[in-house]
Amino acid sequence: MIKKLLPALNLRFLILLLAFSAAMSTLVGSFYSTYQVQKEQLTTYTLNSNLAYAQKLASATDNFLKAALQQLAYSAKVIEQSASDSKLLSKEVIRLNHQTDSFNSVVINVHGVIAATSPLLEKIIGKAINSPGAIEALKEKRPLISEPYMSAAGNLIVFISHPLFDKEANYIGYVGGSLYLKEKNILNELLEQHYYKGGSYLYVVSSSKRILYHPEPTRIGNVVNSNSVIDDVVSGGQGKSLVVNSVGKPMIAGYAPVALSGWGIVAQRPLKTTLSSLDILTIEVVKRTIPMALITFIFIGLFAHFIARPLKRLADNADTLDDPQSLEKLKAVKSWYFESHRLKLAMLKGVNILQMQIGQLRHDAQTDPLTETHNRRSLNGLLNQLIFKQTTFAILEIDIDFFKRVNDTFGHDKGDEALVYLTNIIKKLSRKDDIVARIGGEEFVLVLPNEDSQSAFKIAERLRTTVESSKIDTIGYITISIGIATWPDHSNDIDQVYKCADKALYHAKEHGRNQSVVADLL
Ligand code: GH3
Ligand code: MG
Ligand code: MG
Repeated sequence: MIKKLLPALNLRFLILLLAFSAAMSTLVGSFYSTYQVQKEQLTTYTLNSNLAYAQKLASATDNFLKAALQQLAYSAKVIEQSASDSKLLSKEVIRLNHQTDSFNSVVINVHGVIAATSPLLEKIIGKAINSPGAIEALKEKRPLISEPYMSAAGNLIVFISHPLFDKEANYIGYVGGSLYLKEKNILNELLEQHYYKGGSYLYVVSSSKRILYHPEPTRIGNVVNSNSVIDDVVSGGQGKSLVVNSVGKPMIAGYAPVALSGWGIVAQRPLKTTLSSLDILTIEVVKRTIPMALITFIFIGLFAHFIARPLKRLADNADTLDDPQSLEKLKAVKSWYFESHRLKLAMLKGVNILQMQIGQLRHDAQTDPLTETHNRRSLNGLLNQLIFKQTTFAILEIDIDFFKRVNDTFGHDKGDEALVYLTNIIKKLSRKDDIVARIGGEEFVLVLPNEDSQSAFKIAERLRTTVESSKIDTIGYITISIGIATWPDHSNDIDQVYKCADKALYHAKEHGRNQSVVADLL
């Protein structure tokens, strides 16, 4: 019943729980913070490298466009010398087209009609064309990089042109080169051929947010509106940012504008790919930490065991402090640290006091307070033990003669002194295994183990004569009468043995007192 009321948690479990949770939270906390710091570092590093890459490409593109415009400017100078010389115009368009890979086609427009083309397109020579690039060039009359547009042949085109003027500085037309964005040319090589790894890619938008280059061909030509990076880059901004791309993937982006054309270049890498190496790293760190953590947990377990052990042993003993063995058990507890040691000392002290008190109580319960001999209860117990061990014994029932008179003459106190005096004589004459008991007012029993009636009688007589001849200072002489019976000779039943001794004593009293009488055998 008591056990049910005890809490189920024990100290060892609690120490384990505390140490385990502290160790786990420290581990998890350090893993988490390390992960976070490395994630930040990796993200920042990727943001910076993407920005640097976008800037580098933007400046390379800018340089290319500048060079293309310069080529056209130089040609314009040549053409303006003799704009009516169709041979020269043909030569110039071929040179422009083939000298470098800058343009996919070159055209010269004089007085509103096409004067020369490369590659040669005979059917449009002498005709006016109204492609968006041409219209814009004619209208603006200045060096120009057009907005990208779709040509009649289905090419996404950027048209770069330079105006032509006659000697009187009148506008007469333009020389222009088309860049087919999807076909081979320097710009295409610069912006489309990239080393794509781990999902990182690059794309280019025009100033009107139309996609010019993108690894996903279907997206080229599309206009992207709700993208903060594109909004920023087309208005001339550059920077780095975490964005979500068109298919909902978080991206680490760096972006820079191409000053000359107003285009924007965005280099980006999926956040997931960037962090995947970190995930692998973290798993590796966790894996390598496990053995050490296991060793730590085993150590914690052992330590908890050793801390809890003395307290557990002390607690186990607390239930049985009245057990005579408990003192030894408590002493055996290894109390190796301060609190357990103090507890052990306190319990030892408590057990000592308890056992002393138990001993005292036991002694009190078994002892006659006046004579310090066994009382009747104790005597019965001792006789039962003798019977149990089948040790034969003789009972001497001793009664002081005319004791009432002693009391009457000298007072009760002196009577008590006489009782103590008699006790001392009995004790002096008895041997180690003999039992002395006071069973009534002035009645004593002396039990003599292993003695028969005859030898008991001799001992009784010796006692009687010793008493008879001993003078008690305060009251003088007293005599005693003794009734003797033996177990199991007189009876196997102890009560009957008592009765026999009683009878013998009565007989002694009846026949003059101051004598020893052995009971008759029944
Ligand atoms: P008898 O020879 O027949 O034994 O005569 P007696 O006077 O001794 O008679 P009995 O044995 O019947 O008397 C017992 C007396 O012992 C009665 C009482 O006054 C006295 N007595 C009993 N217990 C005590 C005690 O504890 N102290 C003292 N001082 N006297 C006691
Ligand atoms: Mg009596
Ligand atoms: Mg008497």
